[in-house]
Amino acid sequence: MAKLIIVSNRLPVKLQEKEGELLYKTSEGGLATGLGSIYKQGDNLWIGWPGMVVDDPKKQQRIADDIRKESMSPVFLTETEIKEFYEGFSNETLWPTFHYFSQYAIYEQQLWETYVEVNQKYCDAVVAQAGPEDTIWVHDYQLLLLPSMLRERLPNSTIGFFQHIPFPSYEIFRLLPWRKELLEGMLGSDLVGFHTYDDMRHFLSSVNRIVGYGSMHGWINTNSRSLLVDSFPMGIDYEKYSSTAATEEVQKREQIYRGNLNAEKVILSIDRLDYSKGIAQRLKAFELFLEKYPEFHERVTLLMLVVPSRDAVEKYKELKEEIDELVGRINGRYSRISWNPIQYFYRSYPLETLSAFYRMADVALVTPMRDGMNLVCKEYIASKSDQKGVLILSEMAGASKELSDALLINPNDINQMVEALNTALTMPEEQQIAHMKNMQESLQRYNIHHWVSMFMDRLSYVKIKQLSLA
Ligand code: UDP
Repeated sequence: MAKLIIVSNRLPVKLQEKEGELLYKTSEGGLATGLGSIYKQGDNLWIGWPGMVVDDPKKQQRIADDIRKESMSPVFLTETEIKEFYEGFSNETLWPTFHYFSQYAIYEQQLWETYVEVNQKYCDAVVAQAGPEDTIWVHDYQLLLLPSMLRERLPNSTIGFFQHIPFPSYEIFRLLPWRKELLEGMLGSDLVGFHTYDDMRHFLSSVNRIVGYGSMHGWINTNSRSLLVDSFPMGIDYEKYSSTAATEEVQKREQIYRGNLNAEKVILSIDRLDYSKGIAQRLKAFELFLEKYPEFHERVTLLMLVVPSRDAVEKYKELKEEIDELVGRINGRYSRISWNPIQYFYRSYPLETLSAFYRMADVALVTPMRDGMNLVCKEYIASKSDQKGVLILSEMAGASKELSDALLINPNDINQMVEALNTALTMPEEQQIAHMKNMQESLQRYNIHHWVSMFMDRLSYVKIKQLSLA
């Protein structure tokens, strides 16, 4: 029987070693939840890096045996591979380029060569486990070359690829020295998926101008085969967020936090540390808001969580310093003994705490400069049991295409952000509820399970269609 193999850079488990003992912490990310029910069925399998460098072959074998029971199979990366493939090419070349920060991208042949080698390593790991007719679903920008590498070794397999980050316009993508190889890598798939129609359009235009293949209704004909490109906006595990927010434990926490914050209104901001998230721009907008609307002094608090991320990369270190400085400056200027305009936390929180923050927030301020989707804004909406609250959302987030009931802003337009804050904080409750209700209905329906089944159904359809086109 044909099986399904999921491949992503990271496995949905994080390996740790404490006092000589191996610990396996399962990931609760959206992707892991959505695919959870599928990859554990029958002989299905998830292949990826377990999150720790392990050089000892005996230990590697032990890990492989341990996680096999959980339907996972490891790809081990060396210290150098992590540096050059993951931190280097993936996060310092592809990430900035795909998020329209080309000025941050580095172009180094050595990093590219390691990227190719590591994609090959993942390919070998898949081939070692796959039958000729299996379905393989490859995830994200760390593995752009994998579909073609797999196609060469397993010509009859079914290969899906989904990109979780934006695909930039041709004028940006063309700056990459390895643009053609990257596209050719992706074209080994039967189905290529993006979050939004615009990402898909940009990809098709790059394929046309760089590789020379045209397209019709998302179908690309290469010289030997046809494949489909389509958009699949990813949803969240709506039930998980709405039911967690409704628990007594979370409601109790919300009350405690609210009491401690001592503010009439709470604005919430949650991101991983990343220049694509527009954190510094958001802080500047909040500063201008305090200047322009002094009536909110001592009444409004910005609760800002920044989750540490990629701190080995120079640009991220610089951003952290910039944020620290801005928060210090704003609090220094406006704080009173009993009130801080910004409560800033540089750490990550478990679901129950996040859920209490979501419940507590009168306004969620989600203003990335560029974001493939953005799940935080969807989680905020799902957590609003009483349907009160306002979402301010950047037009540059994939989620804005679905959430037209949010207050949509351009994150470069500081005045628009300031006015949106005032509108949100003064919005009548009936209006808040009307918008929230619409957004909740849509997110409840288009949840993570819907996303997985849409992609898998389309992939099967492509295989059938290819037969009739052949
Ligand atoms: N998150 C978390 N702990 C935190 C803050 C955030 O687990 O302290 C989660 C959050 O619930 C969300 C994810 O991190 O599911 C962020 O996803 P998003 O798509 O918004 O941004 P990304 O970090 O993937 O760019």
